[in-house]
Amino acid sequence: MPSFDELLPRIHVVSLPLVTRFRRVTEREAVLIDGPEGWSEWSPFLEYGDAEAAQWLHAALEYANDAELDLADSGSIPVNATVPAIAAAEVPALLERYGTVRAVKVKVAEPGQTLEDDVARVRAVREVLGDDVLVRVDANGGWSLEEAARALEQLGAFTLDYAEQPVASVEDLARLREQLDGRVAIAADESIRKASDPLRVTQLGAADRIIVKAQPLGGLRRATEIVREVGLPVTVSSALDTSVGLTMGAQLAARIARETGTEVSPAGLGTAALLRADVTRAPKRPVEGTISLAPVVPDRDLVEQHAASAERRAWWLARLERCLPLLP
Ligand SMILES: [Mg+2]
Repeated sequence: MPSFDELLPRIHVVSLPLVTRFRRVTEREAVLIDGPEGWSEWSPFLEYGDAEAAQWLHAALEYANDAELDLADSGSIPVNATVPAIAAAEVPALLERYGTVRAVKVKVAEPGQTLEDDVARVRAVREVLGDDVLVRVDANGGWSLEEAARALEQLGAFTLDYAEQPVASVEDLARLREQLDGRVAIAADESIRKASDPLRVTQLGAADRIIVKAQPLGGLRRATEIVREVGLPVTVSSALDTSVGLTMGAQLAARIARETGTEVSPAGLGTAALLRADVTRAPKRPVEGTISLAPVVPDRDLVEQHAASAERRAWWLARLERCLPLLP
């Protein structure tokens, strides 16, 4: 792994404006790394601690430096549209940004909103796209067990592909899954982070599917290993990455499909459509419901134009310096 001094000249900190508030932010900050094996991205959320951010860093450095990763150099993978916790009236215009898609993930259980807001948002998606698209909801662990049971009984009327992390703990996921008795499938996302997590999710029968993300799981190799250990169906996703990080996610989806002999479920990698600006002139916005696996080389002018402030750059460099010795 490279030292801080070796990395420094290869680091670009950017701040990209979003089209709508997401996870309570309106700008997405990311570190781009111009690595020997190609461009990579390190973008743990600002509130995450250093130990967690170091996992994300391991992924970024693997992608930037590992010549043996065996990346696909052509092709594409299917993606879902992601609908943030916006008002139902805003759903049609937002969905237009994605073009034709076969699957949609709708954020629910947003703090300060009600179940009625969630129902209205999911209904709006069905009204725009009809019965043929897969509709998923993602609560980010925001419901209690009782709230989740009530919400999914109601939202289940719209025929859900699955509900992602309806409750926070693995134990509650298992209880909820038993209560729902197959009426709505459960996907574990935040519950799959640490090395010991996958085993626990399967032991407790807490999920029908797992969500895997390249950065939080420490990279393409580790994430693929976890998928093998768990043995459940998989959806690859990411966390509102730039087009560089989205391509890393697309490579993970292709790798998992190749190594497990399964088909790629529409991935949560359509989120370039939620960025008002990106680091490349050819952003990885969904085209006919897919994004390509082709590597992204950021445009120097765009990287400069969207460079984070000196203060934010210093914040990220300090975080990088703290995280390097914590690499797993
Ligand atoms: Mg999620």
